Formats: sequence, structure tokens, C-alpha cells
Amino acid sequence: MVTAIINGNVILPDGLCRGILVLEDGRIKGIQNNIPAGAEVIDAEGNYVSPGFIDMHTHGAGGADFMDCTVEAYITAARMHAMHGTTLLYPTTLTSTDELLYESFETYRKAVPQNTEGAAFGGMHLEGPYFSPAFAGAQDSRYLRNPRPEEYMQILDRCPDLARWSFAPELDGAPEFAAELRRRGIVASIGHTNATFGECDAAFRAGASLMTHFYSCMSTISRRNAFRYAGTIEYGYWQDGIALEIIADGIHVPSDLLHLILKIAGDSRVALVTDSMRAAGMPEGPSVLGGLSDG
Ligand SMILES: [Zn+2]
Repeated sequence: MVTAIINGNVILPDGLCRGILVLEDGRIKGIQNNIPAGAEVIDAEGNYVSPGFIDMHTHGAGGADFMDCTVEAYITAARMHAMHGTTLLYPTTLTSTDELLYESFETYRKAVPQNTEGAAFGGMHLEGPYFSPAFAGAQDSRYLRNPRPEEYMQILDRCPDLARWSFAPELDGAPEFAAELRRRGIVASIGHTNATFGECDAAFRAGASLMTHFYSCMSTISRRNAFRYAGTIEYGYWQDGIALEIIADGIHVPSDLLHLILKIAGDSRVALVTDSMRAAGMPEGPSVLGGLSDG
């Protein structure tokens, strides 16, 4: 099956191109000057044509939140994301009780085989509950706590679909926690944190490789007892082995900061995400972050 996408601004690594994008059996074959005989033609009507977007941090869309813990919510969110160009996403939880986390794992398992039209699920991302109360942001501070092996080993054993876990590196037990994630091949991500540069470095050496929504809910240069300390943001710039996740909506990170990040870290170290919630793709009106019962 051959498909040709015409009249598109095709996004390439080095710029834009106006050619005809040809796909064979769902895979990009190349950019050509002519429409192949017998091809199904899609008119992009002057819009951008890009590879599928991979969203590794999203809480939902289309009126559904992954913490609703229903298969329907997972399918609804996946469909809405697909309509806006996402082909793979990582359902993300919020700080909550362990019971609700377990319920979300089970729902994820059931939703995967039923998700035939939406963006595919790549694995789960736990955002919390091991975060700093000083940088809780939109996370419910009732559920914040330190990483204890008695708890997280059980969570890890019960969720084989975990792809990523965001945590604050300054908490007691955090380096051991990051090392356990690395042992299991799970991305350890620094976020919602009041860490110093040194505490970030300890987490990086233990296994952290990513920063969760860079600039949002994280420490920068601070003065403590007349001494000045570099923080999480400075570490993110300094450490080439860390990728920086950005909510590039121009609001969480304004455009001058976006340019600064690109200038210092370069595009190979930057990952764009939506961090969207259930209101994404919906008309204006009130919305709830998190599960309907508890959000
Ligand atoms: Zn989030």
C-alpha cells in the first residue's frame, strides 16, 4: 500500500521541504517530485508534515485523565493525542495513594490491547510521590514522601510496564532509589526538586538521565547561611549526560528561555512534551487535574 502526502511543508532535520512524501506500508520511503501510480493521495493543504510526536509526559486529554483509572479514559486520551499528531505516549500518574497507583497499572494493562486507533502506549511514567514539598507544584502535597525500599520495591514488582519514574534527588534514600531504577532499565528523572548541584550529581551518578519539565518546579541558585549554591537548573545545563524535558508552550518556558536552553544544551539534549491534562483538546471551561474522585 503506497500513500503520497502532497502540498505539505515537510519538516526535515535541516529545514523545510515542499516535496511529495511517499509512504509504503506505513513507513516513510522518501520525498519525490511525482505521485507514484496507484498511490492513495492525502492533501496536507499547506500544513506541516512531521514524524509522529512521542510524548513521554502526559496526564490525559479529551476530557480523560489517566488517574480516572478506566480503560475508556485511556482510550479517549490516546485518540485525542493521535488526532494532534502523537503516535506514542507514556501515560503519567500523579502523586496519590499506592492503591490508586496499582489501579492505574491494572487499567493500563487492560487498555493496551484495546487501544487500536489512538497513539500507542510506550509504558507508564510515575510522576511522584517522592518529591520536595517546597516544589510540589500541581502535585497533591498530602501524598509526598521519601523513597523507602519497602514501598518502591513492591511498586516496581507490581508494575512491569514502568518506563520512567520522576523523583527529587535530595530526599533520603534517593540515590539508592535511582540505582534500583537503572538496574531495572527504568528512566530515572529528576523533578519537583529543591536539590543542590551536588545532590543532582549524586543522582546522576546513581542512574538519573533526565530532568522533568526543566525550569518548572525545580531549584536554581540559592543562598544558604551566606554560602551560594548552584541548583538543579545549573546542573541540567552543566551535565551533558542529562536530557532536558521541556513544556514548550511559551508559557511554562517563555521563548527567551527556550532559546537559552537550545543555545547551551543543543537540540540533541532537549525533549519536548505536552504534560497535558484532561482539558487538552477540549473547548474552554472548568477542568480537573487528576482523577475525578480525588483530583
Ligand atoms: Zn506532569
